[in-house]
Amino acid sequence: MRKDTSDGRFTTKSTWQLVRTGHTIQAVYVDVVIQRRIGSHMASRCQCCSAIETIQHLFIDSCVANQVWRHLLDIFHVTLRPMEGFEYHFQSWRFSGQFVRQGHIRTIVPLLILWFIWTARNDAKYQDIYMEPKRIIWKVYHTISLLHTGCMFRVIHWRGDMDITPLFGISLTTPSLSPPVLIYWRTPPEGSYKVNTDGRVKDGLVSGGEIIRDSSSQCVRAFFSSYAIHCITRGGGPWSIQATLRHIRHLLTFDRDTISHIYHKGNQVDDLLASEGWDRRCYFAYSAQDLPRRYRGLVQIDRHGIPTVRGL
Ligand SMILES: [Zn+2]
Repeated sequence: MRKDTSDGRFTTKSTWQLVRTGHTIQAVYVDVVIQRRIGSHMASRCQCCSAIETIQHLFIDSCVANQVWRHLLDIFHVTLRPMEGFEYHFQSWRFSGQFVRQGHIRTIVPLLILWFIWTARNDAKYQDIYMEPKRIIWKVYHTISLLHTGCMFRVIHWRGDMDITPLFGISLTTPSLSPPVLIYWRTPPEGSYKVNTDGRVKDGLVSGGEIIRDSSSQCVRAFFSSYAIHCITRGGGPWSIQATLRHIRHLLTFDRDTISHIYHKGNQVDDLLASEGWDRRCYFAYSAQDLPRRYRGLVQIDRHGIPTVRGL
């Protein structure tokens, strides 16, 4: 039974929390800890050698642990403090650089090393998988890379160690990819209309498309046009159209009308309209009845709330 979880069960999350908060030593059930708890002797052998399995041996002194620590200590140029012991290992990493704060890579690496030594030990004990230092080191590297892919690191977390980020296959100078998001077209509130617009600039030619839909998501009208939505919302724009923009702003009523940005992926009808406008280079309007099939299909997709994926 575990005291640190509500139902007494083992979870990796609770174990990780114990390691992170420094309660490691009594929480890890190596052979000598179990012997002490049950008050009897039992056969004990480390999974990597013939030594008795103690916490100090498994995580620090064993040849496997030693190789893993040595590799990463060298990579980060961390010098171990002369005092021996579990906690001092952590202290050496924690105070190894002036930029090390909570969440810094130098506070993450020791945790990953401990975790993957522990999982390697369990794999050896229960699945007969040989404890291999290289595999543990690879898992540390791989997990750091995954954390980066999951946008868990910022420059501050690698401050002082930016020069070694390429070793982990990551770059913090180029922005990391954002995770994909689902984009939905939303039906306007009852009794109101939604106008979606899109523009295209190509080879010196500007085109735009607009579609007006009602609160049942049905097309009212669609046409090619040209406009300057950013100039309307933010002010500015060429002086020659300032009067027109001012007039549009004047027509907008604060409580009644809203203008917002929609991602390109959620605006496919207008993208197609703008594209057609560019191809045909003229003004043209469709009524709801004569809207071509290719547009009607996209309108139906929006109407049924089928999302598109942005970022893949
Ligand atoms: Zn051993």
